Amino acid sequence: MMTDDELRNLLTDRLTETILRIGEACARVGRDPKEVTLVAVTKTVSVRVAGLLPELGVFDLGENRPQSLWSKAEALAGRSIRWHMIGHLQRNKVERTLPIVELIHAVDSVRLLEAIGAEGAKLGIRPHVMLQVNVSREAQKNGFDLVGLHDLIARWNVEVVGLMGMAAFSDNPEQARPAFVELRQARDELRVKWPALEQLSMGMSGDYEVAVEEGATFVRLGSTLFAGLDGE
Ligand SMILES: *Cc1c(COP(=O)(O)O)cnc(C)c1O
Repeated sequence: MMTDDELRNLLTDRLTETILRIGEACARVGRDPKEVTLVAVTKTVSVRVAGLLPELGVFDLGENRPQSLWSKAEALAGRSIRWHMIGHLQRNKVERTLPIVELIHAVDSVRLLEAIGAEGAKLGIRPHVMLQVNVSREAQKNGFDLVGLHDLIARWNVEVVGLMGMAAFSDNPEQARPAFVELRQARDELRVKWPALEQLSMGMSGDYEVAVEEGATFVRLGSTLFAGLDGE
């Protein structure tokens, strides 16, 4: 086991490097790094590791499974963490998830959109969501087709604040670029009619610099921050 100080040092080094790279990617395309939020994806690490992040200035944490999100959020209550639900959310888990999260990144069906809207109405809130778009062209990936998105947005009690997408897995980050460009163009087109639809959740450890060059406003980073820490 590493001590808390050892963990802090390691995480500080990795965060510094990652934030530097995000800054460099922004500089290459003339973006302001303040537009990019790093979401630390804590799904492979313990509550102890996740709990060190706010002290290091990282308040946006993401989980891809509702149960893990619930248990970490409960264990780390009171630390000013903004929780992001980044994975598939089943409708029967909306009720318990919605009060905890800042943003749901991966709404991938009309039925889920409807369920989130209805639960939001019960809580007297208009939940913030992003729609997951299938830009990787992989049949097994979830998400909406771009065609028809316009019609979806006004209909439910949700604020659609952006689009989320995942590129097909590849060793070469450049392979991801066309998917990110497609997502940005879709966002730009939708934003003409829906000004609140500003955000782009795209980019993971293998391709986040390309995603930032193409306009990502949220990058979801796990392994580049936490590799080797699974047992801690
Ligand atoms: C795990 C996960 C990530 C982070 O992936 P890394 O490649 O480890 O950075 C991002 N988004 C989603 C939806 C995930 O499930």
